[in-house]
Amino acid sequence: MPEFEFAVIGAGVFGAWLARALHRRGRRVLLVDQYGPANNRASSGGETRILRMGYGAKEIYTRWSWQALQLYKEFYATTDPTLLQTTGILWLSRPGHQAALDTLQTFANCAIPHAVLTAQEIAQRFPQFQVPPEYWAIWEPDAAGLLARRGVQTVVRQTIAEGLTYRQQQFTEPNGEAETYIYACGPWLPKLFPHLLADIIRPTRQEVLYFGSTPGDRTWHAPAMPCWIDSAHGLYGIPDIESRGFKIAIDTHGPVIDPDTENRSVPEQTVEKVRGYLAQRFPKIKDAPLLQAEVCQYENTASGDYLIDRHPQNDNVWLLGGGSGHGYKHGPVIGEYVADALTNNAPIDPIFSLAAKIPYNNGTRTSTI
Ligand SMILES: Cc1cc2nc3c(=O)[nH]c(=O)nc-3n(C[C@H](O)[C@H](O)[C@H](O)COP(=O)(O)OP(=O)(O)OC[C@H]3O[C@@H](n4cnc5c(N)ncnc54)[C@H](O)[C@@H]3O)c2cc1C
Repeated sequence: MPEFEFAVIGAGVFGAWLARALHRRGRRVLLVDQYGPANNRASSGGETRILRMGYGAKEIYTRWSWQALQLYKEFYATTDPTLLQTTGILWLSRPGHQAALDTLQTFANCAIPHAVLTAQEIAQRFPQFQVPPEYWAIWEPDAAGLLARRGVQTVVRQTIAEGLTYRQQQFTEPNGEAETYIYACGPWLPKLFPHLLADIIRPTRQEVLYFGSTPGDRTWHAPAMPCWIDSAHGLYGIPDIESRGFKIAIDTHGPVIDPDTENRSVPEQTVEKVRGYLAQRFPKIKDAPLLQAEVCQYENTASGDYLIDRHPQNDNVWLLGGGSGHGYKHGPVIGEYVADALTNNAPIDPIFSLAAKIPYNNGTRTSTI
């Protein structure tokens, strides 16, 4: 009999929470990662991620976000409450923006607390923003900034303390150690399964910048400053958390990259481009110094829906990934959802199946929010 029932390959946010959910069901679980949990190349390895409920018409993700918020709070209450910072989120929209209008409908269906703000109300409440008079916003008070790398490492450390077996190891083929193998390998999935996934999951280069405010100024820190999304410009941001700086990230999908070898320095032209935006939207910090820059990658599916399915030719192999620039927040829910499928044969929504994934092409989808 194999030593483990389940081998989870990849200790990013998906694999870490899945290993925890399986372990807590009393199963024999091995978790491995080639570079370490939420390492600097992993998609979960950044400083912070947003937990928002707003998802347009995709109600399942809104419901999962709300559920994840409760699970995060429960887990961090006993490990480290600073890993979730309630910031709220301001979703800036132009008139008639369909995804925002769909979000309002979904919020009504799911009873998600929110408010609609006019440009004038935005300016009164958040004077850091300068928005055109026709803009409006959805305000979600319960949205949060999550400490990403530290959060995953806490999940793994805590679960190891509760008895999980973890190893740093590169894992390619099933090796007889476990009955079932779950490859939660994020942007590495198309490298591991090229015939199956090369056209289905596309890792794209994503750049993130952190700017510094003036000494003593708390205006750009949570809770004075919220998380925000500006879809019309393909940008979003997170307030200064843990004094790392005011974060701005480019959501428009960048070139395809190899997560092992990508050069992760940020070119000056990106800094200039973002500075141009700062001058327009946040003029008070248009000359703020750049403190830090990160290059991460999204692992996009064409629809943005996750991949949760059995390998079509190998019954004891599962594929878990396709976080598509929005998966972090759902980690604890995905852990429970996939553990239910693996241990109780619980059904999986067809949107997550391999069969539902259409091949990626350049016309498909160029941003996440
Ligand atoms: C810049 C940026 C901003 C984002 N913003 C948000 C946000 O605001 N909100 C949100 O919810 N989501 C956000 N996301 C998306 C989210 O971070 C990802 O969807 C999520 O982290 C994916 O997690 P994962 O576990 O699938 O992959 P990863 O975190 O990449 O983990 C995969 C792991 O598998 C390991 N691995 C791979 N191959 C092997 C092997 N052969 N053997 C052993 N180990 C292996 C790797 O080392 C890695 O640690 C953002 C992503 C980026 C890049």
